[in-house]
Amino acid sequence: MTDTQFKDLDRFVSYAEKQFDLPLLAGCFADGRADPKVPSRAVGLSLLLGEVIQSPGLSQLEEETKLPQWQRWVGYHDRISHDTLGYAANRMSPEQLRRAGRFISRKLKRGKAFEASKMHGLLAVSLDANEQFCSDHRSCADCLTREVTCKDAQGNEFKKTQYYHKQVYAQLSGPRLSVILEVEPMRPGEEECGAALRLLRRMRQTYGPRFFDLVVVDSWYTNGPFLQAVVEELGWPVVAVLKQERYEIYQEALALTPGEPTHVVERGEEPNRRRVEIWEVPALRLSDTYTDPVRVVRVRERWTEQTQQGKKWKTVEREQTWIWVVAGELDAYNGAAIRDFGHLRWKIENNAFGELTQHWHLTHCAHHKPVAVLALLWIKIIAFTLFHAFAIVHGKLFRLGKVTLQELRKRVYRSLLCGWPIRCLSG
Ligand SMILES: [Zn+2]
Repeated sequence: MTDTQFKDLDRFVSYAEKQFDLPLLAGCFADGRADPKVPSRAVGLSLLLGEVIQSPGLSQLEEETKLPQWQRWVGYHDRISHDTLGYAANRMSPEQLRRAGRFISRKLKRGKAFEASKMHGLLAVSLDANEQFCSDHRSCADCLTREVTCKDAQGNEFKKTQYYHKQVYAQLSGPRLSVILEVEPMRPGEEECGAALRLLRRMRQTYGPRFFDLVVVDSWYTNGPFLQAVVEELGWPVVAVLKQERYEIYQEALALTPGEPTHVVERGEEPNRRRVEIWEVPALRLSDTYTDPVRVVRVRERWTEQTQQGKKWKTVEREQTWIWVVAGELDAYNGAAIRDFGHLRWKIENNAFGELTQHWHLTHCAHHKPVAVLALLWIKIIAFTLFHAFAIVHGKLFRLGKVTLQELRKRVYRSLLCGWPIRCLSG
């Protein structure tokens, strides 16, 4: 291990300070505690760094805050108890944190960090809903509820109430950098589409109409009122999955696309190359609540995969069919382009959402209180974006394939433990 390896934390902090004005950003951690002993900035920076080094909960984070190096960086020379961390988080302003998240995304866009994420010259935002966590016993004022049927030890069925939190995310995916632009919690009694529209309306106001060019969604959103609102009220075209069970239009689309495909393209690199057959129907009626004609693109993809059977490897043929609905102005983009927009959501390797779930404890809640749930989620998203920008846009090691993102996070932690003297955050 060389000396320079101990400097990863220092590099990360310098990058965040210089590129994103971290001292100014730290203002977003202000909370409403009366006469706090521990400054909110020290709490917020601890929570932020805790996310980067993958601290699994507030008690473990309390342990980290005993490190002198940690204390020097956050500017508070004592341990911070898990009670204080949770209490302060529940008094932070999710709105302020959201503004900080937006500030970072805007800076990244100005710095051309999303250029590589453009597909056929357009920047597509995809929506995903995610259940963050659920509990049988503990609830808060913002919990969603559902009845579930369970069996007791004797096998008798009984019903119980389950409490959970679920959010809709707006994600910008790219071959390198993927970020979460917005998140919106679902409210009791609300459908995903309601939260998604609230999120998009806010983005129209805050990010403006031209920050991205189109919206990509799964079949849950393929309904008249949602498309009407996004296309006509907000002005973004939508590419949406059409599922068999939802519409007559699915059968109609199949019936109208017999025989040879309109065109055929190839996608992906060997050995994962796919033959993509495309049929297009220019104008179909979706439903009574969305009467403008929509374009329908049917895609059949074929590829081969190697699977192991016993000691032998076998080549198996795979096939998948997708039907996409295109609402709004995307006439200049052919069926192959529509297929590419639609597939942005399925690429695991460039999915911020998947990465957050797998490596950033997304489906875990450190402090189950209404404001803390959202405030901590925003801190996670901010930490995630800052770290990924540092590693992917700025850092050479990851770009050169010398370390993985998770290794780099470990190195940041190691450099903290090894006590390389990181500067105290200015401001
Ligand atoms: Zn709750």
